[in-house]
Amino acid sequence: MRKSEQIPPLGVRGLVARDKQFLWHPYTQHKTATPPIGIVKGQGALLWDEDGKQYIDAIASWWVNPYGHSNKYVADAIYKQLTSLEHVLFGGFTHEPAVLLAERLTEILPSGQRRLFFSDNGSTAVEIALKVALQYFYNKGEKRTKIIAFENAFHGDTFAAMAASGISFFTEAFRGSLIEVERIPVPIEGNEQESFDALSKLAATGEYAAFIFEPLVQGAAGMVMYSPEALDELMGICKSSTIFTIADEVMTGFGKTGKNFACDYLAQQPDMMCLSKALTGGTIPMAITTFTQELFEGFYDDDVNKALFHGHTFTANPTGCAAALASLDLLQTDEMQDNLVRINKKHLAFKQEIENHPRVRTVRVLGVILALEITREGNEDYYGDFRNRLYDFFIKHGVILRPVGNIVYILPPYIMSNELLEKVYDVVRQAVEEVR
Ligand code: PMP
Repeated sequence: MRKSEQIPPLGVRGLVARDKQFLWHPYTQHKTATPPIGIVKGQGALLWDEDGKQYIDAIASWWVNPYGHSNKYVADAIYKQLTSLEHVLFGGFTHEPAVLLAERLTEILPSGQRRLFFSDNGSTAVEIALKVALQYFYNKGEKRTKIIAFENAFHGDTFAAMAASGISFFTEAFRGSLIEVERIPVPIEGNEQESFDALSKLAATGEYAAFIFEPLVQGAAGMVMYSPEALDELMGICKSSTIFTIADEVMTGFGKTGKNFACDYLAQQPDMMCLSKALTGGTIPMAITTFTQELFEGFYDDDVNKALFHGHTFTANPTGCAAALASLDLLQTDEMQDNLVRINKKHLAFKQEIENHPRVRTVRVLGVILALEITREGNEDYYGDFRNRLYDFFIKHGVILRPVGNIVYILPPYIMSNELLEKVYDVVRQAVEEVR
């Protein structure tokens, strides 16, 4: 039988079986994983599978979708752009969506951020920041070839991003092929001095080009939070030692922490920022790495070899830029800003209610992010049995939550109604009681 004859026509059920024949999913051990769920429709904070079952998307599809699925305003902007200029190469050419987006973003970014470099995803945004840090010193003839990052950081899955990431099972197989990264403890409450001391020690060697961090919230580590004051202190140490600071706002950017950027909570300003995920409202893959003028000037030279020889085919894709511009419009509406406050208040009330439960170890909230650690003896591994039982419980109850070990976090689209949010809390309450 020819392959095409085995495959049912589009629109007929059977996505899971068809997927099983050809596809390879991210972060998935196919031998033991439960089959994927075939999603056929998304609207607002809801998704539907091919059997008509409804799911509340309580993690905004890996943190990308603040304004809701199938958002008409963003979709219209994309369509309009597609029918006027869908794409043009960015080497030697420019276009209005990119220029406008740069103008709009520099209005809201920390004021030092003056130069924007486009790419396609969070990992490439990080890759570019790290390359710029290393090449800046290379161009100057200075030997600073190492990077500093936090323990348990996550910055992506390409090689430099992976090197900066500290969750070991993501990177173990590639250990011998990674750039040199030294880790310091995260300055969570009570750990601040240890973190400052570790950074000061490294800074004194003069070997480090940059310090990369997820500002205020380490997402993939399980929404681990630390204070702006501690980060300011660490960034101050870097400033006085000419170590560039890279704020990876791939997760935190565009409202997640209650402000446009987590860096808006700081007195210090970063030298570089990495943006992606919510940048286009969860529609078109796109990323931007932003830089100070000083960094740009480190490459500005009569010598062509000092240029940044980095680029991707779809760099600054006009359709992606149009999606990002429409997303910014939505973020800046009073309604969306009110949503950020509303969800934060709901989270804080839920925290207060549940944090004294005997099975709850701790609850933390920042902006629209809530993380709850369930107390449990035994296997608390990242993708361990307990985590899988929690995940299955949530899916059975029609809520998409992807716990990290024993940590359940909620990061809803900003448009999620109070009613849906209450349903999410309800399922979490039940899980705390029932899942062992
Ligand atoms: N940086 C951070 C802080 C992230 O959370 C992620 C993804 N979760 C990345 C980088 C990598 O982004 P991407 O998956 O788009 O490559």
